[in-house]
Amino acid sequence: MIPYLKYDIIIIGAGVAGLRAGLELYEKKVNFLILEASSEIFGRVRTLYDFADFPIELGAECIHGNNNDLYFLAKSFIQNNNYSFIKNNYKELYWVPDLQKLLEYDDIIQAKSSSVGKELKEALKFDKLIGSYNKEKDLSIKDFKEMYLKDNQFKDIFVALSSHDKGAGETEAGMYGLQEDEENWGTSTDDSYEEFLFKKGNFSEMFSIYFQKILDRVEKNCVVSEIDYQNDQIQITLQNGLIYSCKKAIVTVSLGILKSDLIKFSPALPAEKKEAIHCLGFSGGIKILIKLKKPFWPKKTLFIFANGQGIIPVYWVTSAGGRSRKDFVLTGFFMGNEAKNYVQKSDFLIIQVKLQLSKLFNISEAHLEENVMSTYVKNWFEEPFTKGGYSFITINNGYKNHRKNLAKNIRKKIFFAGEATSINFSSTIQGGMITGFKAAQEAVE
Ligand SMILES: Cc1cc2nc3c(=O)[nH]c(=O)nc-3n(C[C@H](O)[C@H](O)[C@H](O)COP(=O)(O)OP(=O)(O)OC[C@H]3O[C@@H](n4cnc5c(N)ncnc54)[C@H](O)[C@@H]3O)c2cc1C
Repeated sequence: MIPYLKYDIIIIGAGVAGLRAGLELYEKKVNFLILEASSEIFGRVRTLYDFADFPIELGAECIHGNNNDLYFLAKSFIQNNNYSFIKNNYKELYWVPDLQKLLEYDDIIQAKSSSVGKELKEALKFDKLIGSYNKEKDLSIKDFKEMYLKDNQFKDIFVALSSHDKGAGETEAGMYGLQEDEENWGTSTDDSYEEFLFKKGNFSEMFSIYFQKILDRVEKNCVVSEIDYQNDQIQITLQNGLIYSCKKAIVTVSLGILKSDLIKFSPALPAEKKEAIHCLGFSGGIKILIKLKKPFWPKKTLFIFANGQGIIPVYWVTSAGGRSRKDFVLTGFFMGNEAKNYVQKSDFLIIQVKLQLSKLFNISEAHLEENVMSTYVKNWFEEPFTKGGYSFITINNGYKNHRKNLAKNIRKKIFFAGEATSINFSSTIQGGMITGFKAAQEAVE
């Protein structure tokens, strides 16, 4: 078949990486098109509008650090719309195994009678624990926890803040991979690392404005199944048989899609690229929302760390910060291989979550049940065009340049972008954006 849809550059995927690449090509007046598999844009940025009386993020939710393009964009977005970030004066609750109850950080730290405060402080220094690990052999987070935090009752908080936060189960990520990403992390102007959440406004709204001028360049429901780059003109074939032709292509699909062989590359990808795809990890990712009639946590609570008590490692109060006075919503955040066990099992997961919450808050299951208005499960491993949460470096694969190798272009024809290719901002929106921008610049050089 003769390809009849010709462009200079075709971008595959309309997540933030693909759209940021598109914006750059638009500015440079390049003839380009974005092919998006799904019926929606923004990829792992997705906002739910009808669960509560305020919008809720099902994917990315938080802005990490104050020295990156995403933060600057969000700051001008809130200023232009008279919105704000929520103020960071909130409390954190931790499950204390010795006392079998949830306590606030200050109460744990001030406890005089035991070493409990010291143990919590040690577990919360997860970045220092990771940074100082220098043994010859890499260790999984689970093994590190068992060897070095054996007697610390908050050791599962270390797991929640290290591997789970990085999208991995405790057996999937290694100390050296986390160390590599941590060392390269470059989001703050100084040592004070801050995170920002919208009080009003949300990512979908912000990106609809930011990418407005290129949204008509996105063709939805176009599942790319083959990229043939052996000749001068690249041929891109869709699942429905349609063929597009271009001089260069920018691939921004998730690492989960690259791992899945949904897209066939002809010739096959170079060995180095294949190794990077294999050695970087992409695992389960679930957000579960619970809307309640009344809150059963202390005022000003933001985070609740379950510390190994029940299924979900961490919850946050999504309605906090003045987002709602009526709908009290908790978000449970469940990443890594254990989350994969819940594919097509949302009802079972909700039962587990209710059991966990009744134990954590010391309320009867019947009382909790009466209080629950609705629940919602977003399982990113079930998403056919994502297939997981976000990327991490697997055990025994730290310091091997896998992210760099994933990002390398092939013959200056096929360029790669997306959060997994980002060295400084992996696993984030800003990682997607910056790599999209750079890939577009490289492609027009
Ligand atoms: C639960 C969760 C919580 C997160 N929390 C945060 C957070 O708080 N802060 C933060 O900064 N980041 C967070 N992230 C990560 C962030 O969402 C991602 O890093 C970012 O959105 C990735 O953008 P991307 O463009 O690289 O990839 P994607 O968003 O995955 O975009 C890739 C696009 O390619 C399309 N595609 C796939 N296959 C094909 C195909 N064959 N043909 C055509 N198109 C295809 C997909 O449909 C998708 O639209 C979170 C992610 C998850 C899942």
